[in-house]
Amino acid sequence: MKFLSLLGSTGSIGKNVLNVVRSFPDRFQVVGLSAGRNIEELAAQVREFQPECISVADQTLASQLITMLPETYQDRVFWGDEGNKKVATVPAAEMVVSAVVGAVGLLPTLAAIAEGKDIGLANKETLVMAGRLVMEAARRHKVALLPIDSEHSAIFQALEAGRRADVGKIILTASGGPFRTLGKEELRQATPEQALAHPNWDMGRKISVDSATMMNKGLEVIEACWLFDVPAEKIRVVVHPESIVHSLVEYIDGSVVAQLGIPDMRIPIAYALSYPERIPLNLSRLSLSDCGRLSFEKPDYDRFPALELAFRVMEEGGVKPAVLNAANEVAVAAFLAEQIGFTDITALVVSTLDRFAPGDDLDLDAIVAADGKAREIARKEVAQRQLAE
Ligand code: NDP
Repeated sequence: MKFLSLLGSTGSIGKNVLNVVRSFPDRFQVVGLSAGRNIEELAAQVREFQPECISVADQTLASQLITMLPETYQDRVFWGDEGNKKVATVPAAEMVVSAVVGAVGLLPTLAAIAEGKDIGLANKETLVMAGRLVMEAARRHKVALLPIDSEHSAIFQALEAGRRADVGKIILTASGGPFRTLGKEELRQATPEQALAHPNWDMGRKISVDSATMMNKGLEVIEACWLFDVPAEKIRVVVHPESIVHSLVEYIDGSVVAQLGIPDMRIPIAYALSYPERIPLNLSRLSLSDCGRLSFEKPDYDRFPALELAFRVMEEGGVKPAVLNAANEVAVAAFLAEQIGFTDITALVVSTLDRFAPGDDLDLDAIVAADGKAREIARKEVAQRQLAE
């Protein structure tokens, strides 16, 4: 039996994690659950999985949640950053799955690593913000960081085929998102509703918009650099609209090893939860003959500048990736609230980045401070852009 704590249990990844757990009650047990604001869903999950410890976004929600649960939960409901840390460090938990969205994932993940818990990582923002710190902490505490992002799970699996020293390139595939074929003027007019309609994956709102700008692939480039200890110049991105080939590793002899599968997040989730074993998932199988043609194309950096931006900030280093992430979170939220246009998202990230120097080697305080300052600058810019309209 593996004991799990799950951060972000009410989201798209969180619910899929619980789907896997539900299918294998003899293998996994949930001991901690955290969510943001959806207390109805969380209360139902608590009744079903009976964790030891729960957390929500704030104290008011925690008080409301307590009234929805049996009395035994009175002193087991927490909130905010401290609540997430409590859930991430429940003594019984062997693995913490981080499926929260955004920067909120960083501190509980570091807390879990410090307690020696393995991490199933969906929350890519954690590595974008503080990749060096997180990877160093994982090495120091000898914990495994198992990727849940489908591309990184694919690379992780393809890397099992050879020696690290023999890796030539890592090739990340990208669906291209819902706006892959749109021209620049159409992109300028794109609405939140259109951006949220991803062709292949049913995901949360923030990652769906990131996928539309291709910032998601940029964040994944940074995530891959840290997870697999490769420089950005060894990473390539190829657009693959069918989302069947989840990513590839090219070895120095020219062999390319890929992982394929239907686009269903339960596959990488189950792999991370059960690694190094594989568990039999009751899902439809990939049929290559039914797929027909699989296509690949170069990414268009001109229409989707966010991707190139991520390569640039990875090269610049310092606080730049954390600033990119924070500005992007603010910009995506503003776009979803219809305060700025679609193409303003990346423009706003660029102008926020321009206000920062990379800085030297960083500790956690410097990263958290840069995150806060970048949000402040980005919010001011959202307000200015609204006034200018
Ligand atoms: P969702 O928006 O669907 O879910 C986000 C989760 O985070 C929800 O449970 C939400 O709670 C919770 N949350 C928000 N704020 C807080 C907080 N302060 N404390 C605790 N929990 C909080 O996102 P996804 O599931 O789509 O994505 C989650 C992460 O996984 C992201 O980093 C994303 O990039 C990554 N990822 C997602 C993939 C996907 O297919 N969805 C694929 C690969 C990676 P609530 O809803 O209750 O407010």
